[in-house]
Amino acid sequence: RIRASIITIGDELLIGQTVDTNSAWMGTHLNDAGIWVQRRVAVGDDRQAILSALEEESAKSKIVLITGGLGPTADDITKPVLLEYFGGKMVQDEGTLRHVMAIFERNGLPVLERNVAQALVPDSCTVLPNARGTAPGMWFEKNDCIFVSMPGVPHEMKGIMEDEVIPRLQERFETPALLHHTLITSGMGESFVAERIRDFESALPPHIKLAYLPSYGLLKLRLTTEAPDKITAAAEMKDAFQALKKGVADILVADQDLPMGVILGNILLEKGLTAGTAESCTGGRIASQITAVPGSSRYFKGSVVSYANETKINLLHVNPETLRQHGAVSEQTVREMAEGALDVLKVDCVMAVSGIMGPDGGTDEKPVGSVWIAVGGKGNIRTMLYKFRYDRPRNTEMTTVAAMNELRK
Ligand code: ATP
Ligand code: MG
Repeated sequence: RIRASIITIGDELLIGQTVDTNSAWMGTHLNDAGIWVQRRVAVGDDRQAILSALEEESAKSKIVLITGGLGPTADDITKPVLLEYFGGKMVQDEGTLRHVMAIFERNGLPVLERNVAQALVPDSCTVLPNARGTAPGMWFEKNDCIFVSMPGVPHEMKGIMEDEVIPRLQERFETPALLHHTLITSGMGESFVAERIRDFESALPPHIKLAYLPSYGLLKLRLTTEAPDKITAAAEMKDAFQALKKGVADILVADQDLPMGVILGNILLEKGLTAGTAESCTGGRIASQITAVPGSSRYFKGSVVSYANETKINLLHVNPETLRQHGAVSEQTVREMAEGALDVLKVDCVMAVSGIMGPDGGTDEKPVGSVWIAVGGKGNIRTMLYKFRYDRPRNTEMTTVAAMNELRK
């Protein structure tokens, strides 16, 4: 397989001010293109660190992809370091200069000298146009290795990767056809699923791989096949995927890797039902994930974010006596929240949640992570207790997914 390394450059990555999303994106897209990312390295805006990374990674990989440090400010030093490493001299790239001038003209801004400098590139590189910004990508070759330097700004990097880098790499190398197919299950831990499909897994041909990917209370199963051509890959994949799907039919959530908001939305659309939420501990996140899906107005009517007991009483008509007797995190309360939401939102079905997300507020009886969920329609409300064991953000995300998954059932 063709091996690639990714070098991300920037002090902000090392101190955790910026999370390196570039590597993850590149990993996914290179993998889809049949190129294997075997290493990732992050270095600061530091000459020696960048030089060492270039040297080490090119000894290990055929392709070295670099992002960051190309900007017009003094903290960005990648370009002079590349010049030093690859040799040659800085020259003006006319195409880039015209592009930079046009961008500034369009925005009615004067062009500063440092912006003109964006068009300076080492003459040892091939310029890759950056349609979304000023700093172009640069393609170098040295010691039988390809190096591509791109800006750190994520959407500029993605544009250059999609328009230039991936097509050029696919032209250069004969990449095998990689095909992925993912399904989602719920309600069974990965080791139990592994036991269940043991025979299926051991009967797989060696070039089809199965990966177990737990994700917020769900389990994704991904089949990957690597075949010399797309047609063979597709045929093999189809058989394996059908067999896998049959093996997990009773715990299957979806036979594609889609966000839960999309999965639930499709079911609501298909059944012609409208939905709403009554959210205490999730503070509107369920509604947010549902409305992140374009077209969700066809089935989603709204949410009551009833964080305080007072709001549960005033907006959802929860009985104050229920709260006094059983507390906010109780089966009785979520049931009344759900009934109230059905009423005030005038929807066919609802999700109601009330839980303790932490870090404080837990008791022996109701520890942090205890969440009551109620889902369903009029006269048909089901309640269930979940016990998550994580920190606040993760408990909240788990609750959000669990509520949508329960209504889906
Ligand atoms: P520009 O020409 O726009 O200045 P640049 O190549 O100089 O681009 P940087 O200055 O290093 O890029 O970073 C620009 C922005 O992109 C910053 O907000 C930075 O936090 C972000 N960024 C840089 N590297 C990454 C990365 N690996 N993942 C996600 N964001 C990143
Ligand atoms: Mg930088």
